Amino acid sequence: MNYKGPAIPSGTILQTDVCIIGAGPAGLAIATELAGGPHQVMLVESGAFPAETAGMRDEMSAALGHGADAWNFDQYQLLNLDDQLPTGDVSYPSAIQTHIRRFGGTSNSWGIRYTESETGVRYTTLDPIDFEKRDWVPSSGWPITKSQLDPYYVRAHAFAGGGPCNYAPENWSTPDCTPYPLENTGMETRIFHFGPSRTFLADAKAMLELAKNITLITEATVTELQTGPGCTAVTDICVRTFAGNVFRIQPKIVIIASGTIEATRLLLCSRNSNPAGLGNQNDLVGRFLMDHQAVRSGLLRLASLDTLSKLTFYDTRRVDGALITAKPVLTEETLRKRRLLNTCAAIFPRRAGESVNPLRKRFPRGPRHNSPAVSASVALIRSLRARRLGPAQIGQAAVACMGIVDILYYRWRKNYGMYARSAAYHLDSGGWSRNESDLSLFPAMEVLHLTEQVPDRDNRITLGTGLDALTMPRVRQHWRLTETDLQGVAGALHAYKDGFAKAGIGELDLELNQGAPQVMYASLHHPMGTTRMHDDPKQGVVDARCRIHGTENCYIASAGVFPTGGYANSTLTVLALAIRIADDVKAQLQKLQRELFL
Ligand SMILES: Cc1cc2nc3c(=O)[nH]c(=O)nc-3n(C[C@H](O)[C@H](O)[C@H](O)COP(=O)(O)OP(=O)(O)OC[C@H]3O[C@@H](n4cnc5c(N)ncnc54)[C@H](O)[C@@H]3O)c2cc1C
Repeated sequence: MNYKGPAIPSGTILQTDVCIIGAGPAGLAIATELAGGPHQVMLVESGAFPAETAGMRDEMSAALGHGADAWNFDQYQLLNLDDQLPTGDVSYPSAIQTHIRRFGGTSNSWGIRYTESETGVRYTTLDPIDFEKRDWVPSSGWPITKSQLDPYYVRAHAFAGGGPCNYAPENWSTPDCTPYPLENTGMETRIFHFGPSRTFLADAKAMLELAKNITLITEATVTELQTGPGCTAVTDICVRTFAGNVFRIQPKIVIIASGTIEATRLLLCSRNSNPAGLGNQNDLVGRFLMDHQAVRSGLLRLASLDTLSKLTFYDTRRVDGALITAKPVLTEETLRKRRLLNTCAAIFPRRAGESVNPLRKRFPRGPRHNSPAVSASVALIRSLRARRLGPAQIGQAAVACMGIVDILYYRWRKNYGMYARSAAYHLDSGGWSRNESDLSLFPAMEVLHLTEQVPDRDNRITLGTGLDALTMPRVRQHWRLTETDLQGVAGALHAYKDGFAKAGIGELDLELNQGAPQVMYASLHHPMGTTRMHDDPKQGVVDARCRIHGTENCYIASAGVFPTGGYANSTLTVLALAIRIADDVKAQLQKLQRELFL
């Protein structure tokens, strides 16, 4: 059954066993698990179906306070307060802007080519070490282990259509394509899978049409959760629509699956029992905002002209119908010994001259600038955006004027993006081992890394002062990279340099920026950590079962619960945790039913 929110009269009170907030990948995984079961489920989605929303995205985002363009002047300011950005030009793009209000959630924006006519997404699991408390990574440590999550990763793979949940490189070898021997190099080979977006779009819609126990309500935004005395349980879910009607849902169990940022916002806006927000008794909701970064380490000059032909395992390819790729990663032993942050390395072939730019070293992308004029211009722009003007700004303007050529080049370089314009192969575009008949024409590879960020309590989401069209306070994001992040990743880049040399692959010409890595993208649109998981309510918002501490009928299913995020793209772990929540909810409801009959 599908109802549109605007058609539900104001003042209506709906009752259900389970209410899932958000029909993105997490909410849809849970709905799929509960479909056909004995319990009544309501799935409430802020957006409409994709076909009904053509052209609606921008208006809706703007109405909700997200702004159609995060780089728009005011929006930029709203989301990235100047004084929260001490790290040069690496600014955090609005995660909100990239997360879509629509049935299927952010899967609507996945752009990896899965087949000729379909888009898809990259999946991989976190590593066992990512779950551990590491003394060199402050605030690290999950209350569950990788092996506890493994059975759910298997189910998540089956649901997502990402091929068999098999990450052993040797199982993806074919006679003419095998992993490069990386023994004793400090590196090993890691498999990445791909899956289609359709799982969360057409397939999910078809599943819901058949599920008699699920009611989908679209175009309905949850604006507040109300709790009883002591916040022990969510009693009422307040829903608003753009048509102006307001209704309520009274569930036995509620699962917030509205994405990291929106789940956090909803908790902060739910203040009927605690003015600080639901689950925020220890001032943790919104803190520890993390993301993955894309970092460029430099050009890997291959040892010989036939080296690339031995690296075809690291291209994107189909094996037995599954689309996969592989990347070199650092071994656990290397991470422990050298006390590094977790990273993977994506390698793409480059023709002679491609990607080699003599000026790149003078104007690297990233948190530090080699040019005083560029630093001054960045500081000046920030000050002006914050409407600050004083002697310091006049000084900055003078320094900037003296280095105008540097600034012009830097601006061009900044827009120049992650790759050389002519480069055919990059993160979302593989196939080189099939497309190119003569691999010896590629004497080098470009090396990019997806990197881990250290959880930092000062990186956070708070509520802003303005209200959106549905009267919810807008959010602000405060985000920066710290010295611990930069040094942890820089150390990893040195370990890759050593590893590539030991393996005989070639010489990695590291392009560091005053010792720090070049951060190409500050965000890979994987916001995490703002409702973190911990056994101790003083250190986490949810417990190991993803229930809000103290509010036992309220679960959170999003990457917000990750205490740390490794380098792995987050969706597969979000799905695994969502399926685990679905199991827990089923057990809870059975328990409630038994108690009722006693
Ligand atoms: C361009 C891009 C590329 C990406 N590539 C990858 C990748 O390769 N691999 C990977 O693992 N991840 C990738 N991601 C991240 C991935 O999209 C997210 O991890 C995933 O979408 C999270 O799913 P979710 O269900 O938690 O949240 P979302 O997808 O954000 O879904 C949340 C849903 O909740 C709804 N909602 C929000 N607020 C409310 C409310 N108050 N009331 C009712 N409904 C609400 C929204 O409309 C939405 O439908 C990418 C993201 C982007 C933007």
